Amino acid sequence: MNKMKEYAAMRKVELKERIAQECFPPLLLIIRVGDNPASARYVRNKIKDCEEVGIFAFEVQLTDGISTAGLVKYIQENQFNYDGIIVQQPLPKHIDQELVNRVIDPKRDVDGFHPMSRFKPATAKGIIDYLEWRDFDFEGMNAVVIGRSDIVGKPVAKLLLEKDCNVTICHSKTPHKNLMNYVYDADLIICAVGKEKFLNCTFLNNTPVIDVGINFDENGKLCGDCIGGGANVSPVPGGVGLLTRVALLENVMEAAYGS
Ligand code: NDP
Repeated sequence: MNKMKEYAAMRKVELKERIAQECFPPLLLIIRVGDNPASARYVRNKIKDCEEVGIFAFEVQLTDGISTAGLVKYIQENQFNYDGIIVQQPLPKHIDQELVNRVIDPKRDVDGFHPMSRFKPATAKGIIDYLEWRDFDFEGMNAVVIGRSDIVGKPVAKLLLEKDCNVTICHSKTPHKNLMNYVYDADLIICAVGKEKFLNCTFLNNTPVIDVGINFDENGKLCGDCIGGGANVSPVPGGVGLLTRVALLENVMEAAYGS
């Protein structure tokens, strides 16, 4: 079994045991707007994960045509009946995502998107928790994060900084030559770009690479951002997605019972 699978399976068993000891299961509200098939699939998986560990997840599907005000009203009227709430992204373009993030109660914001959320965004949390489990020695290490989105790149970089890494963040305006220099000097690489074959890891001498990307190749097969390399490069599928899913469950449990 790959190490990420082993880690996720172990954490799920721990979660299930912990929840079984409580009088009430955690309650999670998942709001989906419209009928984006990818979102529907993500939500189905989240509900399946919840069932596996004993979290009660309730899905509500709202119509594509709902306004930002309508969605905000729905969240405000319903969120306090649950321990945690997720508004599945992406939302339709006419919805103000920023405003929606801000009306979610920070104590229930298990996605960690509210600026005051008590939770770490799941992908970032999942990666750092996993590296801790692998006894990665963060202090003073050169960590390169490729990608600076609010949901992956920035939160991962922030957590690595809190772990006393020297963090370099690269993005689309980073000249390729500079990016390659940072990568060659890195002790840890987190690649979150969303482009197939973006990073060739063949010449990286075993530097750990966490491949966050989710892409589809020309045959419609799921793949990450990285090619080449060996066991030092995390697999896609069967890699970061598992860490994200388990970290989300942990956030829901914490929302229900505290840490
Ligand atoms: P975004 O599209 O929001 O961000 C992509 C980032 O990559 C941007 O910061 C962009 O820079 C940067 N980038 C684009 N081109 C280059 C380039 N040539 N050189 C360096 N940087 C570049 O994506 P997300 O952060 O939301 O997600 C990234 C990937 O991770 C996607 O494939 C997504 O599906 C996947 N993902 C996987 C998860 C999992 O659980 N496995 C969870 C979340 C996401 P700039 O800011 O300048 O535009």
